[in-house]
Amino acid sequence: ATPISIMVGVGKAAEYGVLIRNGEALQQAGRLTTVVLDKTGTVTEGRPTATALVAAPGWDERRLLVTAASVESGSEHPLAQAIVDAAKERGLALEPASAFEAIAGRGVRATLNGKVVLFGNRRLMEEHGVTLGGLEAEAGRLAALAATPMYLAVDGRAAGVVAVSDPIKADSAAAIKRLHAIGLRVVMLTGDNRATAQAVAAQVGIDEVFAEVLPGDKSAKVAELQARNEIVGMVGDGINDAPALARADVGFAIGTGTDVAIESGDVTLMRGSLHGVADAIAISRATVRNIK
Ligand code: ADP
Ligand code: MG
Repeated sequence: ATPISIMVGVGKAAEYGVLIRNGEALQQAGRLTTVVLDKTGTVTEGRPTATALVAAPGWDERRLLVTAASVESGSEHPLAQAIVDAAKERGLALEPASAFEAIAGRGVRATLNGKVVLFGNRRLMEEHGVTLGGLEAEAGRLAALAATPMYLAVDGRAAGVVAVSDPIKADSAAAIKRLHAIGLRVVMLTGDNRATAQAVAAQVGIDEVFAEVLPGDKSAKVAELQARNEIVGMVGDGINDAPALARADVGFAIGTGTDVAIESGDVTLMRGSLHGVADAIAISRATVRNIK
């Protein structure tokens, strides 16, 4: 590999908004066999908004949203932001929560008006012995529409479901088509529930889905693919994507993502588009061809 041709390749990629940190990453990009995509903020915009409220008997939508938003006000998670914004848009006043706790890959827990409130996914509810009854079918219906349903429970009883939707980036499907055309397999990796992940995957033509993966297990999924002799590119934006980005043969960070993700990646996609991955691979292959 001549340093000059690598410099030219890195410069060419930069014209496409693809910032490659080193020559090694440029050369590896052309050898990738599988691209792993984080869902939220990578395939989707990463700007979730609340789109459905389903109150359990004895509850109403307003109380459901106020309670969920009050416990989420202590969380930094993008899902929490969507819930708090929805309450504010409706002019609802939040109540002071205490003993706030974020439960990784599951949701949040806090005390509100002397009651223990849980808000998060089915795993969180199951681990706390909350019976979901008919709410589970409602959540399933929303997940099939690619929304993320979250359950609210107060003192161990289910109070309702709040769903958020995150629009798919306009060019995700086209970029994935390009990756297929140049011979790559495309896998999705997400902490979100299986039905939601599969609904998104189906809309953009993803081959395989790893869903309900806990934050600490994402890099092990990349390693699992590597053990199957795949050369793996990982694309992500979140704090919990950082170990998987570092583990991958080439880590691609979304340019608008967290600093931690950008620092863990070999490549930064300044335009936030998955087309940047196909661009990097094409430039890498052209560069390496010229070197030989
Ligand atoms: P990812 O970044 O891959 O989407 P996370 O591990 O951050 O995954 O979250 C996985 C799931 O855990 C979410 O889809 C949601 O159901 C639940 N969850 C995590 N944090 C929260 C939160 N603050 N409020 C409600 N649910 C949450
Ligand atoms: Mg993400």
